Amino acid sequence: MIEKLLKSKKLRLTPFRKEVLEVFINEPNAIALGDIEARLKQFDRITLYRTIKSFIENGLIHEIVMPGDIKKLALCPDECSSVNHVHTTQHIHFRCKMCENIFCLDLHEFPEINIPRFKIDSIEIQGTGTCNICS
Ligand SMILES: [Zn+2]
Ligand SMILES: [Zn+2]
Ligand SMILES: [Zn+2]
Repeated sequence: MIEKLLKSKKLRLTPFRKEVLEVFINEPNAIALGDIEARLKQFDRITLYRTIKSFIENGLIHEIVMPGDIKKLALCPDECSSVNHVHTTQHIHFRCKMCENIFCLDLHEFPEINIPRFKIDSIEIQGTGTCNICS
């Protein structure tokens, strides 16, 4: 499965890429870089950063930045392109104020926003509140 996923995003399989990708697959929510580091057995920081960078560039994961300098990473939907990573924005980012987890939530209908003379390439919607586990 991991090999197939890497291949579909035009990335060669290496033991380290496999290990990092497994961390994402085993984590249902968005994950902070520090949490990834904590789950790896042994790693070199530069190699990890390069791996994360190539995952982002090839449409495997995306970065989530929320107010309060919160940065997390999450797996992308399959549709994200492996070339120049065109990220499909049909989901919102939701931060639970109780457990502080950040979720990628799919929306059935994404609002269409038009502003005259402004060309919008992407729109990001963020929300905060209480998640289904904490409520
Ligand atoms: Zn993406
Ligand atoms: Zn919660
Ligand atoms: Zn997301």
